[in-house]
Amino acid sequence: MKKTVALIAHDRKKEEMLAFVLANKNQLALYDLIATATTGKIIKANAGLPVTTYLSGPLGGDQQIGSRIACQEVDAVIFLRDPLTAQPHEPDITALLRVCDVHNIPVATNLATACLVLQGLHCQ
Ligand code: PGA
Repeated sequence: MKKTVALIAHDRKKEEMLAFVLANKNQLALYDLIATATTGKIIKANAGLPVTTYLSGPLGGDQQIGSRIACQEVDAVIFLRDPLTAQPHEPDITALLRVCDVHNIPVATNLATACLVLQGLHCQ
């Protein structure tokens, strides 16, 4: 069965996310990709990969993805969050990280870890 990978990037991390996706496009093409609205839109438009999109993070997208994680439907999360800017949906961000820990789902919050998570997915 195809693995599902969630991609979320805060505004100041969206360029970094796109560069990451482009650099790993061949591997990511093997997975079902899901993303918050703007992140997914950017990936679809610039990398040409199919992405199932949810609401934007501040509008509840993190919670939608969190619910899929809780249902055991997500294999890994790449969540490039902006550690230098306060986010209006901080509780949702905390909840998303928490649900990953509850269900033992690998979650990367920076590029270095994102690369390791992708390598790990490849091995499984
Ligand atoms: P976005 O949501 O991809 O719609 O920007 C992510 C976020 O900012 O939390």
